[in-house]
Amino acid sequence: MTEKINVALAGNPNVGKTSLFNAITGSKQHVGNWPGVTVERKMGKRVYNGIEMEIEDLPGTYSLTAYSLDEIVARDFIIEEKPDIVVQVIDATNLERNLYLTTQLMELGVKLVIALNMTDLALAKGDIIDVKKIQEYLEVPVISTVGSRGGGIDDLLNAITEEFGKAQVAESAFIYEDEIENGIDELTTILENDPYFTHYPTRWFSMKLLESDENIVKKAQSSSNYPQIEQVLSRFDAEHLETKIAGQRYKTIQTMLKQVCKVNASHLSGSDMVDRVVTNKYLGIPIFLSFMWLAFEITFTFGTPFMNMIDVFFGWLAEAAANAIPVPWLASLVGEGMIAGVGSVIIFLPNILLLFFMLSLMEDSGYMSRAAFIMDKVMSKIGLHGKSFIPLIMGFGCNVPAIMATRTIENSRDRLVTILVAPFISCGARLPVYVLLAGTFFGRDAGLVIFGLYALGILVALLSAKLMRSTVVKGEDTPFIMELPSYKLPTLKGSAIHMWERGKVYLKKAGTIILIGVVAVWLLAAIPAPGSSAAFASEEVYGTTESLIGVIGQLIEPLVAPLGFDWRVAVALVFGVVAKEIVVGSMGVLYGTGENEESLSAVLAAGAMTPLVGLGLMVFTLLYVPCFACIGVIKRETGSWKWTMFQLVYGTGLAWIFAFAVYQIGSRMGLLA
Ligand code: GDP
Ligand code: MG
Repeated sequence: MTEKINVALAGNPNVGKTSLFNAITGSKQHVGNWPGVTVERKMGKRVYNGIEMEIEDLPGTYSLTAYSLDEIVARDFIIEEKPDIVVQVIDATNLERNLYLTTQLMELGVKLVIALNMTDLALAKGDIIDVKKIQEYLEVPVISTVGSRGGGIDDLLNAITEEFGKAQVAESAFIYEDEIENGIDELTTILENDPYFTHYPTRWFSMKLLESDENIVKKAQSSSNYPQIEQVLSRFDAEHLETKIAGQRYKTIQTMLKQVCKVNASHLSGSDMVDRVVTNKYLGIPIFLSFMWLAFEITFTFGTPFMNMIDVFFGWLAEAAANAIPVPWLASLVGEGMIAGVGSVIIFLPNILLLFFMLSLMEDSGYMSRAAFIMDKVMSKIGLHGKSFIPLIMGFGCNVPAIMATRTIENSRDRLVTILVAPFISCGARLPVYVLLAGTFFGRDAGLVIFGLYALGILVALLSAKLMRSTVVKGEDTPFIMELPSYKLPTLKGSAIHMWERGKVYLKKAGTIILIGVVAVWLLAAIPAPGSSAAFASEEVYGTTESLIGVIGQLIEPLVAPLGFDWRVAVALVFGVVAKEIVVGSMGVLYGTGENEESLSAVLAAGAMTPLVGLGLMVFTLLYVPCFACIGVIKRETGSWKWTMFQLVYGTGLAWIFAFAVYQIGSRMGLLA
């Protein structure tokens, strides 16, 4: 192996970049049918015909302007790290929009290969695309691919290798009108005589300067020749130029498209008709809510029998372990600590799998993007950016990637607010708490209660956003046009893989962080409180107020007593900050009362907790401090401890007020006692 090719995958959002990346490198990055799924760069390797390729999956961008963080990430990678080949992935069903980026990549003077992806969809629609003609027109290799099934990969890799062997290409010039060209000439002359700029494609750099691209102007300011540049720029009206340049690019594209493809316009109607219904002004939101409700109903109803089976298994295992281990404290650690604690979390694996299966069906079919689209109207009424809803919906899985996905939001204030409210969207880790408590106390209505909690989370997020946007984070908002991806029949395999990956994450978490958490809880529950004469892990100590955890719990109990929570719940909530599943895990340890092998649910139902307190606890778990991982990502993405603390205090304050209201109003009215 002598050569190495650095390849970057670029393209609009949702065109199949990650699918192709996975097909080439054999990795399993998350693929999703909506814009903004890949916000961080991902790298993979592939050896093809003895040549090593290093492939970079860039975030999706519509253009190479500096409007949002992901566009800057993609662009900076191309101009600073200079990959040998840029593969632009194009959605064959949406050529015009995609080719806009092509014109910009060509102006950058990079060696370009086009992967014409989703050709299966274009074919099914009845579009006729002349690949050879596009290739001649652009003078760039164009390869047809089907990313989701790995079609055309070898052709693509061959084209990359071949292009790599060719001489450097020139910055392909679209000639603009004289005014612009003169400006470009003047600037290029300055740039070419300045060693600082030799690193950059000068014609492109000049154009960006003329468009007064913030990020590029900043780079230019580091040069000693900047005053000269500034002088040229002062003669131009940047906004006017930008519109002109964009207009001309589109004209070029349209001229070309007329010659290379024939779009079958009549075929769109099926998808259009569906869209007319699901994005309807009145029906849209009720339909979205019904789908969500159905998802939770199925998650709960179909999950329960499996849940019971796992429950029985862990009950048996705990008993068997306790009987087999002769040392009493060790038997308690293994039986009541590890097995009961981890078991009480693993029980919910079926629910987690089902929920993710449903979510991935909605996501892969393209429905979730419609949901974001209808919410966009609601969001803009609130004064929030429509793009905010996509990260929020992603939060159903886990808030951490959701917060990272806010990088697609251009307006920094909208982005901040979206980060701050994202933790209110109920993630998968909170589901076990709901399934346990709703299942125990609300029987047949459990699905509805769980749906209600998710809806409450969305509502709190939206109202909080409105509140913050008009108080602590005031400012202008930017308009937003959302592009709807085409509907795709979700593949069973795709959804199953997605489901299994989530399941693996869940099991891994149960075996690591949750195991450590419950062992810590067990240990604190087994150590006698200072002054107690009872022995370590003895029956008088374990899980009682005679234990260390009992003392600590009673210290914090007054804080949550007005919510109806006892010291065990207080402790569980504190440990739940490590990972929300631990709320259930520690309850499993603390309520798991020695001799009787009853399940946690049975113990709670037998009177350890009233349904009203259970409801308050679910609401509290939804809103209070997010988990460590989430706190970390809030800090990283806002870059501020001040805002991170604000989120924690605000969320926990809300949680307290809501749970207080539930408990106080409920108990006065004698509800759910
Ligand atoms: P990215 O945002 O560009 O990384 O796009 P993804 O790789 O996440 O793909 C977006 C959606 O398009 C997913 O639902 C894929 O399964 C689907 N997809 C990708 N390539 C193709 C293709 O060639 N044909 C079809 N029918 N679907 C595809
Ligand atoms: Mg992607």
